[in-house]
Amino acid sequence: MTPTLNQLHEYRTATDTPLFSGLPGDVAVSFEFFPPKSEKMEAQLWDAVTQLRPLGPNFVSVTYGAGGSTRERTHATVARIIAEAGLPAAAHLTCVAASKAEIREVAEQYWDAGVRHIVALRGDAGEPGAPFTPHPDGYASAADLVAGLKQIADFEISVAAYPETHPDALSPQDDIDNLKRKLDAGASRAISQFFFSAEAFFRFRDACAAAGIDAPILPGILPVTNVAQARKFASACGAAIPAWMDGLFEGLDEMPAARQLVAATVAAELCRRLYAGGVRDFHFYTLNRPELAYAICHMLGKRPVGEAA
Ligand SMILES: Cc1cc2nc3c(=O)[nH]c(=O)nc-3n(C[C@H](O)[C@H](O)[C@H](O)COP(=O)(O)OP(=O)(O)OC[C@H]3O[C@@H](n4cnc5c(N)ncnc54)[C@H](O)[C@@H]3O)c2cc1C
Repeated sequence: MTPTLNQLHEYRTATDTPLFSGLPGDVAVSFEFFPPKSEKMEAQLWDAVTQLRPLGPNFVSVTYGAGGSTRERTHATVARIIAEAGLPAAAHLTCVAASKAEIREVAEQYWDAGVRHIVALRGDAGEPGAPFTPHPDGYASAADLVAGLKQIADFEISVAAYPETHPDALSPQDDIDNLKRKLDAGASRAISQFFFSAEAFFRFRDACAAAGIDAPILPGILPVTNVAQARKFASACGAAIPAWMDGLFEGLDEMPAARQLVAATVAAELCRRLYAGGVRDFHFYTLNRPELAYAICHMLGKRPVGEAA
């Protein structure tokens, strides 16, 4: 594909800009967490929330396990973040194995707990790559779910986007058309699947703009410390792990601190390029660990709210 003038300009600016020099902190950030399974994990999550909170995230979000397996835990986590940390928290919700009536019940419980923002997703059917089969009385796609949620209450809704195309999509354009359907159904922002090529994100952003999408598309940043694990996950969700990444982590299996430093460098470099290309809104997949997300936000010029940059 021939790059457009706009993309070339973004790419040149990205590569020419020196390392994180004098950034004014003009970025918005958000953080994703997953619901903890044990008391120890709960403590770890809370430590992450407490450390990231001073950065003043626009919102944080809490994932929802396949088929509603984390229904209670997602609810409890979101409710606690709102009540105790005072952060705007979004609850993820999927269509898997749930009737419309069950979705309504979950959504109403969220609303009653003070949740006003939902990340609406289709979800996946069990094994990675297995075809999605909707519940006979359920929603068939995320676009349907968005429309249904809007009828339940006036939620703010975010949806998923795929810079490298969702594996179920017939074509990249078809996937973008689907994203537009989700936004037209009432979502106000998209959060992207993780990716490791700034250029892929810029091309996707341009293609979305060409399709008439003007809602914000937040890049989802995953600082990877374990390539093998990330590769396993990536193949099922429309993200490419570049070959050079294996080389970067080679020989570091038993060196967690070195892996952390490499992970931070790779993710920070991606964010630097995105910033240089005009991105000002970043979403971090924290995996309930605050350090890497915090360090990258710091490098992007973000400082604790109320503290001089
Ligand atoms: C930011 C983010 C957060 C996530 N959080 C969770 C989570 O908490 N829990 C969880 O289980 N999963 C989560 N996921 C994963 C997500 O559930 C899967 O990627 C799932 O396979 C697709 O969900 P979707 O909402 O993108 O589906 P959809 O937008 O419905 O799309 C799925 C696929 O179907 C195609 N499609 C849909 N409708 C049509 C149509 N009418 N015609 C043609 N093609 C169509 C789309 O193009 C796409 O390829 C998350 C993903 C992201 C990016």
